[in-house]
Amino acid sequence: MTTNTNWAGNLAYHSQQSLIPDTLDQAQEIVAQATAIKTIGTRHCFNDIADTEGTHISLAKLNQVISLDETNHTVTVEGGIRYGELGAYLHQRGYALPNLASLPHISVAGAIATATHGSGVKNGNLATSVNAIELLTANGTLHQYNRNKNMDTFTGAIVNLGALGAVTKITLDIQPTYQVRQDLYCDLPLSTLSDHLDEVLSYAYSVSLFTDWKSDSFHQVWLKIRLDQTPDFIPPATLFGAIPAPQNLHPLPGHAAENCTEQLGQPGPWHERLPHFKLDFTPSSGAELQTEYFIPRTLAYPALEALFTLRQKIEPLVFVTELRSVAADDLWLSPCYKRDNLAIHFTWKPDQPAIEKLLPQIEAALAPFQPRTHWGKLHTMSPNKIASSYYRFADFKILARTLDPNGKFRNPYLKRLLA
Ligand SMILES: Cc1cc2nc3c(=O)[nH]c(=O)nc-3n(C[C@H](O)[C@H](O)[C@H](O)COP(=O)(O)OP(=O)(O)OC[C@H]3O[C@@H](n4cnc5c(N)ncnc54)[C@H](O)[C@@H]3O)c2cc1C
Repeated sequence: MTTNTNWAGNLAYHSQQSLIPDTLDQAQEIVAQATAIKTIGTRHCFNDIADTEGTHISLAKLNQVISLDETNHTVTVEGGIRYGELGAYLHQRGYALPNLASLPHISVAGAIATATHGSGVKNGNLATSVNAIELLTANGTLHQYNRNKNMDTFTGAIVNLGALGAVTKITLDIQPTYQVRQDLYCDLPLSTLSDHLDEVLSYAYSVSLFTDWKSDSFHQVWLKIRLDQTPDFIPPATLFGAIPAPQNLHPLPGHAAENCTEQLGQPGPWHERLPHFKLDFTPSSGAELQTEYFIPRTLAYPALEALFTLRQKIEPLVFVTELRSVAADDLWLSPCYKRDNLAIHFTWKPDQPAIEKLLPQIEAALAPFQPRTHWGKLHTMSPNKIASSYYRFADFKILARTLDPNGKFRNPYLKRLLA
């Protein structure tokens, strides 16, 4: 057995071997020969979604930009590339992506497989930038899915949990590069959100609210302002009662701000401001676990009130909670399928047994508010409950069975979910 673990170190993978092909031909050969296989990205998930009892195949060496199409405004990359490298490549050539997650360390294919997201009331998750993919399926053959050619199957194949095969090529929509500034505010009372949640979340291109649960307030609000859209932005003296941060801050109290992207209104390229954390530094805490639930934006405030009734149970276990908005999309397994969401994220201290005891209480508090869970993070929701919250779940099962009839890519996580 290989002894490698996920990034957080809370899961030792059960793979019998890990293979890193140098070429696409080798990758096809490995998949064709395997009986049980799972593609591994940069290992940033917190649950067993990327685990396997068979072979791990990593596309880390198939990580190049294949082409930049300046006529159609797309970039095509190999399946192993990370956002950090892609962001720098695009910016140098005058292009950008619409959004990024809190960290640039993750692979593009792994991020879109789980509907990874940033923030912004008008910004969909990162998978919504996908224009086409090439999928290496169970029998070793390559299949292309394109938003303009096979629309319905395409919308099923993008947020794929790694269940359909290995994504070997991705074409993403791009746009002209742009500058972003970050302005942080401190101490926004929860009660402000009862009347102003949408206004706060819409105040900038991307907005994040952080609470450490020590009081009924958010100790930090991060505004990311696109300067091509709002060139004359003047930071307000107060933001719904919150006051400007006097210095650069880390969202986790007690952590060094040097790990974080530049703040205090200093403009910089999109790929160095949209993530909270710098590529060459440890993102977040480094010793942590994560959970995240998506709630329809229309139900967000009552859901927050319900959660705050658990404040005294959450506070000892958590580093920080982050609220972000994610716009609705049409991807079958996206938690944002056909609804605008508030994403409620927990960065936990690394005490998994205590967290797993608390999660059912959090999920019970959120149950009236149509929660969906992040595919790559810890939760205790039953597979039936999860399946019943996705209108196209049955269609995804059919797609998975069609492309992988013998369940070669079906690891224990997918067996539970797709049973
Ligand atoms: C510090 C930290 C911060 C984070 N911040 C955010 C955030 O801001 N927003 C957010 O939504 N999430 C966030 N996450 C969660 C994480 O980014 C996602 O869960 C993402 O899926 C991780 O990508 P990965 O490449 O590491 O995937 P892995 O964990 O390696 O794999 C995840 C899934 O993708 C599949 N996969 C990987 N590569 C391929 C491929 N080539 N073809 C097919 N399937 C593939 C795997 O089989 C598996 O099912 C964060 C995680 C950490 C550790």
